[in-house]
Amino acid sequence: KVKRSGKNGFRFFDAGLNAHHRQRVSLENDLHKALERQEFELHYQPQISLNHRRAVGMEALLRWNHPTRGMVPPATFVPVAEEMGIIGDISQWVLERACAQLGEWRSAGHDTLRMSLNLSPHDFDHHDLVDKVMAAVTRHHIPPALLEVEITESMMMQDADATATKVRELRSAGLGVAIDDFGTGYSSLSYLQKFPVSCLKIDRSFVRELSASAVNPIISAITGIARGFGLHLVAEGVEQEGQVSVLRSLGCDIMQGYLFARPAPAAEIERWLNTQPLPAAPG
Ligand code: C2E
Ligand code: MG
Ligand code: MG
Ligand code: MG
Repeated sequence: KVKRSGKNGFRFFDAGLNAHHRQRVSLENDLHKALERQEFELHYQPQISLNHRRAVGMEALLRWNHPTRGMVPPATFVPVAEEMGIIGDISQWVLERACAQLGEWRSAGHDTLRMSLNLSPHDFDHHDLVDKVMAAVTRHHIPPALLEVEITESMMMQDADATATKVRELRSAGLGVAIDDFGTGYSSLSYLQKFPVSCLKIDRSFVRELSASAVNPIISAITGIARGFGLHLVAEGVEQEGQVSVLRSLGCDIMQGYLFARPAPAAEIERWLNTQPLPAAPG
């Protein structure tokens, strides 16, 4: 009797696994076809300088517009694409599309705008990463300093020496490199010497905790680090005016977040760009 219920339990569990497995296989099949079916698109989110009251940069954020699944967020499919080994092709598409878009915006007169894009650890395993990035910026007549690659602390730590070499190569070619979600990983300050990046992005989790009244030791430390190393600084996930005034008082000028603009398709962002300069900053 015990055995039987055990067996049933196992079957039930097994059936559950199968359903999960089937879903995963179907996701992988769809993901395989997504590039050729042109289901990917980029949304863009402005990075605003409060002092200049305009966007100084855009972050390209990948979207998968699936015919039946709808908009699949990158957190769902990027890790799967990484495991499948197809993230390299997707990153190449992102690179090309982001550069083409920046080229268009530059032609329309937005000629100091920067573009940031997110890469995966896998992209840093390839010897021709820098060549590919340079080919794309050259193709679209973009000064390398206007293209920025975002990496995370976990990428920096995975294969520190190899990644540091790549970061140095990107920087020597004149490209920007930002550390995304800064402060959430386990990298130490010595990494900032090893990885000559040009920008730190304060993670959303720190910005969320900000209240207008209290000083925030983590954010003051990060702004101090950025100043000390001469790096650009961007605050991510700014949603409230109170956060703006604290960030400002701590010396952070560039903000990205829903308060200013949500990530949106190029056409919408283009209309947004033409409303600049923005109204005087809150705070
Ligand atoms: P991330 O690079 O840290 O991107 C910032 C995320 O925060 C984006 O989520 C953005 O939509 C969201 N965000 C921006 N402002 C706010 C705000 O005020 N409040 C809140 N709650 N969220 C805000 P998204 O687009 O879902 O992207 C999630 C992550 O997926 C990205 O985090 C990045 O790690 C990854 N990702 C996005 N695009 C790509 C890509 O092209 N390639 C790769 N490899 N990864 C990508
Ligand atoms: Mg990012
Ligand atoms: Mg981030
Ligand atoms: Mg993040």
